Amino acid sequence: MHDDRIFEGLITSVSDDGSGITHNDGYTVFVKNACVGDKCLIEITKANKNYGFGVIKGLLTPSPHRIEPQCHSFPACGGCTLLHTDYSFQLELKRSIVRDALTRIGGFENVYVHETVPSEPSFYYRNKSQYPVGGKVGDVKIGFYSAKSHNVINNDNCLIETPDSRLVVSAVKNWMNKYKIAPYDENRHSGAVRHVYFRSAKTSIAVIVSRIANVPHLETLKAELLSLPLSAPLSGIVLNVNPNKTNTVLGKKDKILYGANYILASIGEITYKVSYRSFFQVNSFTTHLLYQKTLDLCALSKNDTVFDLYCGIGTISLFLAKHAKKVIGVEIIPSAVSDAKENAKLNNIQNASFYEGAAEEVCPDLIKKGEKADIVVVDPPRKGCAEPLLEAIAKMNPKKIVYVSCNPATLARDAKYLRTAYGYTLTEAYPFDQFPHSTHVETVCLLSKVI
Ligand code: SAH
Repeated sequence: MHDDRIFEGLITSVSDDGSGITHNDGYTVFVKNACVGDKCLIEITKANKNYGFGVIKGLLTPSPHRIEPQCHSFPACGGCTLLHTDYSFQLELKRSIVRDALTRIGGFENVYVHETVPSEPSFYYRNKSQYPVGGKVGDVKIGFYSAKSHNVINNDNCLIETPDSRLVVSAVKNWMNKYKIAPYDENRHSGAVRHVYFRSAKTSIAVIVSRIANVPHLETLKAELLSLPLSAPLSGIVLNVNPNKTNTVLGKKDKILYGANYILASIGEITYKVSYRSFFQVNSFTTHLLYQKTLDLCALSKNDTVFDLYCGIGTISLFLAKHAKKVIGVEIIPSAVSDAKENAKLNNIQNASFYEGAAEEVCPDLIKKGEKADIVVVDPPRKGCAEPLLEAIAKMNPKKIVYVSCNPATLARDAKYLRTAYGYTLTEAYPFDQFPHSTHVETVCLLSKVI
């Protein structure tokens, strides 16, 4: 337990949840809503043995990077935790997050971390939004949960979601209020509409998640939504039924009210069909640059076989296919695999094949069947790659592994393993800002064998 409840501190770095970090005589304190560079009076509100949590009691010298957040829901919403930090400094912070992870966790002393590639624009970039629905009959709220509660607060002014998503939300809200459609009540497990989910790219989809299937006046809602002046036309309106007492947003059953259950997106020359449940990068502006860097680092020749592990709907596989002899994608979600196969057909790509299953299981099977990769791309979720997968990859002895990561800590852990166990080196890393105003950062890097 640390005794100095109030102390003066300089915020030197940022934690995953956007809190500022300071050290008081070696004791680490996470300070809510502080900005790196702030000099402040800090009160410790919770003290654990090795670290504590605190709040700013007085801002003595504000950081030169501190700005007035332009959103009235900051910090209550909890989404854009860096909204009080100027954008160019956010990019620097992300670069140092990647650098720190690679040196501290990975032990890579001489890695060069490039400047973070910015998102242009850095506002209104999210192509996927999901909003909880609450309030009461006739006074519906659609927006986000207030901190540490399940009370829904309206958010009509979000700076990172698209104007299209706002139009959809307000149409659903007006329709619910006009026809007295009941919002879902979590405590009583009663009412109907639980969430509004919206995705957009070249086309868009609106999904209304309801506890019950027989929601009245759906035809009117459909007409209202179809009459909206959206920048990406609706290719689907879906009623998703989730009758369960659960925090999971989507239920199993879909009823298509209009069109289909997917959107179309394009990156470079490739067009993708994305089922509304499948993974797709949320920032369409930087995704192309991210995949282009992946392609550049692969430096493919027409003799190369590429494994794209954790391939989702085949996004990277198809982006690489025409530069390689063949591409093999592996993905665990069945609907994403069928999207990937269809996407190959849609783009007339014949040298890409896709397998369903856990990469750590499918990859060794493929090797047993005689497949061998010259180059491997991995793009795992936040927890990184399973160690048996890294072993299987390394046993194929590919000349390059291109690692696309949404979590610098697991990237550093996995890269360290590949270096110490198998001699792969990492000299450069490229951060991309897929998630402006949050602390998340996407990184691409090349692991190669020095010959
Ligand atoms: N490369 C794709 C998807 C990356 S997201 C893109 O850029 O669009 C990570 C993907 O890994 C998700 O589609 C997820 O369903 C999948 N996944 C998660 N665990 C997996 C595993 N053990 N094996 C294979 N795929 C997995």
